[in-house]
Amino acid sequence: MERISWNQYFMAQSHLLALRSTCERLMVGATIVRDKRIIAGGYNGSVSGGVHCIDEGCYVIDGHCVRTVHAEMNALLQCSKFGVATDGAEIYVTHFPCLQCSKAIIQSGIKKVYYASDYKNHPYSLELFKDSHVQVEKVELVQVSIHLEQAIESNKSND
Ligand SMILES: [Zn+2]
Ligand SMILES: [Zn+2]
Repeated sequence: MERISWNQYFMAQSHLLALRSTCERLMVGATIVRDKRIIAGGYNGSVSGGVHCIDEGCYVIDGHCVRTVHAEMNALLQCSKFGVATDGAEIYVTHFPCLQCSKAIIQSGIKKVYYASDYKNHPYSLELFKDSHVQVEKVELVQVSIHLEQAIESNKSND
């Protein structure tokens, strides 16, 4: 069985997180990684305890749903909440980050952004990433499927 790469593993984690999103306008997931260890994860959703877009409908102002905290912000705020350093970390996101999240990523000391899908890639985000020496790389998730039976079989043969 072929071993999954780190990039595919972390990007798959972000896609899994996106499935927890509570706003159907766009389901986004983000995973913060340091030294090949996942330190935080987030998806776009309401503030804790708030009503969900999927239950009450989106709260749209000027074409944007204002109810949700973005996935990248949620992942960063999880670090802030639990006192986890983000300096020098990397972030894996399912979609290219919006301008506000791009600035927060830069400000938190994250040094590399991996994203799976282009999404309204703002030229100012790209300019800020470049000026701040934050690398940006597109890593598409290639079809990942887990064959449990295969895994069990190979575990048996390793006994
Ligand atoms: Zn919404
Ligand atoms: Zn954002």
